[in-house]
Amino acid sequence: MISIEDITLAYRNIKPVVHHTPLLTSRWMNEQCGSQVFFKAENFQRIGAFKIRGAYNKILSLSPEEKRRGIVAHSSGNHAQGVALAARLLYVKAVVVMPKNSPHIKVEATQSYGAEVVFCEDSSDDRERVAAALQKEFGYAMVPPFDDDKIIAGQGTVMVEVAEELDSLDYLFVPVGGGGLISGCAVAARHYFPGIRIIGVETEPANDGQQSFRKKEIVRIAPPATIADGMRTQSVGRRNFEIIMKYVDDMVTVTDAQVIDMMRLLMQRMKIIVEPTGAVAPAAAFRHGINGSGKNICAIISGGNVEPSLLKQWL
Ligand SMILES: *Cc1c(COP(=O)(O)O)cnc(C)c1O
Repeated sequence: MISIEDITLAYRNIKPVVHHTPLLTSRWMNEQCGSQVFFKAENFQRIGAFKIRGAYNKILSLSPEEKRRGIVAHSSGNHAQGVALAARLLYVKAVVVMPKNSPHIKVEATQSYGAEVVFCEDSSDDRERVAAALQKEFGYAMVPPFDDDKIIAGQGTVMVEVAEELDSLDYLFVPVGGGGLISGCAVAARHYFPGIRIIGVETEPANDGQQSFRKKEIVRIAPPATIADGMRTQSVGRRNFEIIMKYVDDMVTVTDAQVIDMMRLLMQRMKIIVEPTGAVAPAAAFRHGINGSGKNICAIISGGNVEPSLLKQWL
């Protein structure tokens, strides 16, 4: 299991290339919640989501020989862009396997960073199968989306930045797909804010993480139909699950409708564009904050890559 030292080392590694994203607040939100809510705005990160952190930390750690051969990754979207940009910054060839129904904006962005995109069916199984075949045929190094120590440490650097700005924090809300972001952030948050309550958030259809948390074993679900495309994973990773069971206090869900409401609120009140998965943790923090009182709450806005036509349709 990774430690805080792995995360601070990752932070030193990636700091020259990633943005230190802002912690945004809104007087209106604070009044509604009766608490101080800090939104860690990773929608302003390079590639529009936190994924560049883990991807860069991982690719940087490969041997010169691995870097020379190139890398392969599979992703429904933001990991693809993170890998594509990180590989380009490090002069490494990248091949990315994406489901054929991925949002156009994400496919185009991945290609624009110079990665080769190979399409597959929309299931974790097929993605893994196609990526593994490419890995075998061409000797590429795999850059996994979440179940990897370097990826987890990289994603955890989000909380290093939060800790640089805040002295105390009572609650942390983090969206959960495969569990890379929450596992890294949980290790860091427990270190910097020992008494904090760490809460993972999923949409109801994508609640495999919550089921796993309650059952104390990894539960695998059918590909979930949810607006939050960044959490259409079928199960959390093994390393991620281990950290979740050790450090996370609870796993909660919000509805797709609550996610859309929060996207609208963030746009109207804070003038920021957030993708559905990016609004999942704020939606849970908002509901919690309404019952809570006078606490310091941090919610991670994990990304902002949303197709304008879909945004228009939803809002
Ligand atoms: C990948 C992603 C998530 C989920 O992260 P995991 O590490 O898979 O749990 C959440 N939000 C956005 C915007 C993402 O791209």
